[in-house]
Amino acid sequence: MKRTKIADIFNPALLGQEVCVKGWVRTRRGNKYVQFVALNDGSTIKNIQIVFDMNEFTDEQLKPVTTGSSVCVEGLLVESMGKGQTCEIQAKKLEVYGTADPETYPLQKKGHTLEFLREKAHLRPRTNTFGAVLRVRSTLAYAIHKFFQEKGFFYLNTPLITASDCEGAGAMFQVTTLPLNDLPKTEDGQVDYSQDFFGKPTALTVSGQLEGELGATALGAIYTFGPTFRAENSNTPRHLSEFWMIEPEMAFYDITDNMDLAEEFVKYCIGYALDHCRDDIEFLAEHFDKDLIERLEFVLHNDFVRLTYTEGVKILEESGKKFEFPVSWGIDLQSEHERYLVEEHFKKPVILTDYPKDIKAFYMKQNEDGKTVRAMDVLFPNIGEIIGGSEREADYDKLLKRIEELNIPMKDMWWYLDTRRFGTVPHSGFGLGFERLVLFVTGMTNIRDVIPFPRTPNNAEF
Ligand code: ATP
Ligand code: MN
Repeated sequence: MKRTKIADIFNPALLGQEVCVKGWVRTRRGNKYVQFVALNDGSTIKNIQIVFDMNEFTDEQLKPVTTGSSVCVEGLLVESMGKGQTCEIQAKKLEVYGTADPETYPLQKKGHTLEFLREKAHLRPRTNTFGAVLRVRSTLAYAIHKFFQEKGFFYLNTPLITASDCEGAGAMFQVTTLPLNDLPKTEDGQVDYSQDFFGKPTALTVSGQLEGELGATALGAIYTFGPTFRAENSNTPRHLSEFWMIEPEMAFYDITDNMDLAEEFVKYCIGYALDHCRDDIEFLAEHFDKDLIERLEFVLHNDFVRLTYTEGVKILEESGKKFEFPVSWGIDLQSEHERYLVEEHFKKPVILTDYPKDIKAFYMKQNEDGKTVRAMDVLFPNIGEIIGGSEREADYDKLLKRIEELNIPMKDMWWYLDTRRFGTVPHSGFGLGFERLVLFVTGMTNIRDVIPFPRTPNNAEF
């Protein structure tokens, strides 16, 4: 008999029909006359209740049906008498695919802590919470492609292994096939990378942006969506060593066009998730974050505040608030500063622009004042920075001068500079950390809980 997914079973048209469902048992309870099994197959947060009339089944048959076991059930879909469910299945046929020993299956009771579940990351997708988070994550990934594809952006795949150590976004993981216990050396005692796989030092990418600019200055508008890697030892609830980033890059966009796109984009993703993952988001709101839906709708329906870094610093200085890291013009804003602006001062998402050039990357467009660059960071409640971007420096001479000032090796830069040498155009782009978006939409508070298998310092389990 053809299987129906549980997501499709709560359909009045199926009432009174024979159905077949397959899934994992969440709970079993009952007495010697009747047994109730809550079954989930991952297609929805909802369980279907299966009723076993014990005149028709033996105790022996039901014995292996314990939490975590996998079964196939055929029966009649009927309206439910029970509270909170619309329909249930009167079982006629039961097949047990696999048992789950109650002594050793780790997900016995409800309400395991998120910390406990991180240690069981191989099984946690079977919990309500992680099922919900992973479905939201998948839906957001789809929304991202949909948004850009419908706008005529092209999906560009930038390399994960790179030979430039100047992407400028953080420490890198080296990639090598050299024997680490017996490194080949050159005459002057340096590691002889000519014997390495690529004949030179290589690393995992921290950002696809520089290659993204090559795409934008050919195809007009592109986006990347792929994993990036940062070997920073930042043990925070907002940093991963391996995370996914979306990086649109657009020719003929100035910083204002860039801000407009960023705002439209995050609002689209949030709206899409609210429309398509309502059950999951409601579950997460109920269990973790009562204000979640209100916060999402609030972001959706308000214009983001736009102001310069200089104005932002002035507000922070005049706030009278005691920050752990003191504020003065020129500092890199910490999450406490960003969150003050968003959560306490404006009570809205904020886009800060025109940062001091010394705390931003070399490729950002230099302002007339000689001190600031046309950068933009989008700051969100509970998260802080969710997007970082800029208008790019399109002028060959100014860009070259900045590269030289920062001692960035030319061997890495010649191909990038060619975009400014041949048919340069004004262009802009930004990077959205995918997990920070998933954090925001799910109301989770630790980034380790919004990616199936988190990689963080000292942790590459599963
Ligand atoms: P932060 O200041 O929060 O460390 P960043 O300024 O280093 O971030 P960018 O290089 O601008 O970040 O990267 C673009 C986006 O990628 C950020 O706005 C953020 O959403 C995300 N991001 C950056 N680093 C991480 C990380 N380690 N883990 C998860 N997401 C990240
Ligand atoms: Mn940034």
